[in-house]
Amino acid sequence: MSEGLVTVSYIAATVLFILSLGGLSNPETSRRGNYYGIAAMTIAILATVLGPKVTSLWPILITMALGGGIGWYAAHRVQMTEMPELVALMHSLVGLAAVLIGYATFFDTSVHFEGVEKTIHEVEIYIGILIGAVTFSGSVVAFGKLSGKIGGKPLLLPGRHYLNLVALLAVIFFGNLFLNADSGWGGTLCLLIMTGISLVFGIHMVMAIGGADMPVVVSMLNSYSGWAASATGFMLGNDLLIVVGALVGSSGAILSYIMCRAMNRNFLSVIAGGFGTGTGTATASEGPQGEVQPISAEDTAELLRNASKIILVPGYGMAVAQAQHTVFEITKLLRERGVDVHFAIHPVAGRMPGHMNVLLAEAKVPYDIVAEMDEINLEFPETDVTMVIGANDIVNPAAQDDPNSPIAGMPVLEVWKARTSIVMKRSMASGYAGVDNPLFYKDNNRMLFGDAKKMLDEVLVALRAG
Ligand code: NDP
Repeated sequence: MSEGLVTVSYIAATVLFILSLGGLSNPETSRRGNYYGIAAMTIAILATVLGPKVTSLWPILITMALGGGIGWYAAHRVQMTEMPELVALMHSLVGLAAVLIGYATFFDTSVHFEGVEKTIHEVEIYIGILIGAVTFSGSVVAFGKLSGKIGGKPLLLPGRHYLNLVALLAVIFFGNLFLNADSGWGGTLCLLIMTGISLVFGIHMVMAIGGADMPVVVSMLNSYSGWAASATGFMLGNDLLIVVGALVGSSGAILSYIMCRAMNRNFLSVIAGGFGTGTGTATASEGPQGEVQPISAEDTAELLRNASKIILVPGYGMAVAQAQHTVFEITKLLRERGVDVHFAIHPVAGRMPGHMNVLLAEAKVPYDIVAEMDEINLEFPETDVTMVIGANDIVNPAAQDDPNSPIAGMPVLEVWKARTSIVMKRSMASGYAGVDNPLFYKDNNRMLFGDAKKMLDEVLVALRAG
């Protein structure tokens, strides 16, 4: 394939990637967005592999088959609830690739630059490895935190901001040495020291972040992985990689901003860490704050049957139980009987951005009955029944009422304002942020204890019988 054809293919792929991002911004067009993305990636791979820069196809085909095989296996094996961990692992691979390509470019003796070009080339390598290493180690720790292998409690080292500042100054110092080092060994040593510092910085950064801030970290690492890919594009002189990396980097940054706003948090204080430390007054360890009122599946069905307006609030537990299809069966039945049923989606519900939207779309819930937090919060006072399906932190009134709560200030779905709220979960355990939930003890709240899928199946049977 000629250089010209490769350039045309890259432009086509870039346009398709932009259309893909546009499509993914709305549930109704997200399927189309995915198809655009698949087409763009296919064109990008074909144009690169068949382009004039590739002299030997076999190593590429073998590694693609190997990597593709592992990806195929992982995607088939992974449970829907493990998706966030898989995404974090994928981000770490992008970071690792940037580091390895940085070293390979540095050791490549076939390219020679002089003067300003040499400096620019070395800056690309240095920054590429730096972003790659932070992304790699940060994403590995995020994987550990999301999968529960590392505790959600933030690690707050004494003088941690000074430690970060010293790390930054050291990176700048070794960067300067690197640019002025003329022999290969001096440069290699600077790169190795900087890589070590960046790896430790990535670990420290994510370890310092409390459970409640993890959504922002996931989107932030998503953004970093984009910038790492973009830096790789600069090192390899690949325009498409630069553009696509920048698209991922900036869309991840916008997502981080949206997540921060959804949690009423300032981006810089998220990076500084510590939110969701569990040091507030409303922690799980404080124990029950009153009596809870359990309810049976039959009584739940009775309440639903007599309601004219119902709001369903899905959370992480619905994903664990894979209850979305039964939820939709119940929704269909109630709507057929003339009940007004809506879904309320909190921006950080579940364990990854858009988690609940994906599950509801999979169950074929119509988009027009799925509402975002801001629009639906006004409707709770006029609602007869709200049914909370495996959600906890996102419906915690302590975020509004208790300034000492670790999640104080986070906007929540005000389900307690409905005439009756029903919370469906297996026990009194706290949610991801490790905070006790006063909702459970409110007079107008009922607890439907059990696995969400099992309980909803029972509610459905009772509804059909009634
Ligand atoms: P939570 O983690 O707060 O609560 C989920 C609840 O579901 C638990 O209390 C659990 O209680 C219950 N549950 C678990 N399995 C089942 C089951 N099989 N059947 C019924 N219930 C079940 O989830 P939310 O969605 O309310 O909030 C999301 C939390 O995750 C927030 O703190 C958010 O910050 C955080 N987070 C979000 C990310 C994102 O991008 N969206 C990323 C990382 C973290 P029990 O064990 O008693 O059943």
